[in-house]
Amino acid sequence: MREAIKLKGETGIWEMVIGLEIHAQVNCKSKLFSGSATDFGASPNSQVSYVDAAMPGMLPVINSEAVNQAIKTGHALNAKINNISIFDRKNYFYPDLPQGYQISQFKSPIVGEGWINIDLGKGEIKKIGIERLHLEQDAGKLMHDQHPRLSFVDLNRSGIPLMEIVSKPDMRDWEEAGAYLRKLRSIVRYIGSCDGNMDQGSLRCDANISVRRPGEEFGTRCELKNINSVKFMMKAVEFEAYRQIEIIENGGEVKQETRLYDPNKNETRSMRSKEEAHDYRYFPDPDLLPLNISNDRIEKYKDELPELPDQKRERFQKDYGLSFYDADVLTADKSYADFFEIVSKGRDAKFVANWVITNFFAMLNEVEKSIEESPVNAQQLGELFDLIQDGTISGRTAKDVFEEMFTNGGRANDIVEAKGLKQISNTDELESMAKKIIEDNSEQVSKYKNGNEKLFGWFVGQMMKNTGGTANPKVVNEILKTLLNK
Ligand code: ADP
Ligand code: MG
Repeated sequence: MREAIKLKGETGIWEMVIGLEIHAQVNCKSKLFSGSATDFGASPNSQVSYVDAAMPGMLPVINSEAVNQAIKTGHALNAKINNISIFDRKNYFYPDLPQGYQISQFKSPIVGEGWINIDLGKGEIKKIGIERLHLEQDAGKLMHDQHPRLSFVDLNRSGIPLMEIVSKPDMRDWEEAGAYLRKLRSIVRYIGSCDGNMDQGSLRCDANISVRRPGEEFGTRCELKNINSVKFMMKAVEFEAYRQIEIIENGGEVKQETRLYDPNKNETRSMRSKEEAHDYRYFPDPDLLPLNISNDRIEKYKDELPELPDQKRERFQKDYGLSFYDADVLTADKSYADFFEIVSKGRDAKFVANWVITNFFAMLNEVEKSIEESPVNAQQLGELFDLIQDGTISGRTAKDVFEEMFTNGGRANDIVEAKGLKQISNTDELESMAKKIIEDNSEQVSKYKNGNEKLFGWFVGQMMKNTGGTANPKVVNEILKTLLNK
């Protein structure tokens, strides 16, 4: 069993307790309560209806597609979907919130308790509880960098549907928190309910963290707001844990508060304390009826659920004979899994898995490209593998050919032809070459025959030198063995 990371303070050992709240922008064409578009990057205030701008007398109308996406996501989180849920007004003033309240769900969310498995490496899995998933609308965005003295507001984001997914405080270190965030992102991408794009803010994470001595009750938590990458979240949690430990060890008390993480300084700073926290005066929105979802509708989306990451990983292990690790890496993102399945079709799956993970992903990583942006597509990579499999090129040469395909384009076959990289497997040709080498080096031959077996490698080397490295090593070995042991 993997042990969670414990932290060493001045006075002993500390444990972390972490729960994450994730805001996932629902993948749908229009807003939660209006028909305006939700495209990312549109010019400011070009996607705002009267409802989004909170014109008096405008009435919200629920977007049923957003509800369907929440139902699907709930199923993927192994959660209970509630037949009745209620939209509440969460009241507060902010210049990017023209209504003066956000429509959210408070006491009765659309999705109740569930769980997901997180992968902790080496085949280790941990179950993390989900508290709830509720639907709410996003606020607008203030722009402070457009004018020296004025701030502007862009209401394009106002009313965009969000799913807030709240975990139980089940994570015990930043590795587990990272694995949870990655898994959740993977799941929403698999089912298409959110694009999971953290750079563009379609997936944002608030991390709640407290520390305690092993075996003690939960401590007071702080909430780290709006973190936009897995790496930053993990770093923020680590910094915050040490900060809290230091406070307690110096005789102080952790204050429950909201803090901001600054990735440039790698520190968290206080934003507002719980005492100053707003009283939101939640009450059911009188403009909206309770959301009533039939059992048929709930079941329909359960039946339509696609294969999820855990199931795909198990299938990859079973059908392709892959190790847990390889199957896990290849199913972490649906685009990897799809790519692998295209390339491995009709080919040696274990070989493909190994090559894709070690060489192909390494190259993508190096140039910071996603699999969709890869200059070499699945079919082209498959063609390269065929050349290895049928002995046209060696595995070593394949790496060079791949690099050429990746950086300058072109098909594997053409590159091999143009650069004369074809492996020589022609037995006659290699045999006469070997005979000549043996004839010319009688001294080495007799040393070899007298027991200096290391010299075998020297003969192989001569063959490789003569062919510029393109001789098929297997054929060379066989020929030399036969000739030298005569
Ligand atoms: P709030 O409504 O104040 O945000 P919630 O009960 O919704 O409070 O909890 C928010 C998040 O904080 C959840 O993800 C939960 O798992 C986590 N959490 C609750 N208590 C603790 C604690 N003592 N330490 C760390 N995380 C906690
Ligand atoms: Mg909360």
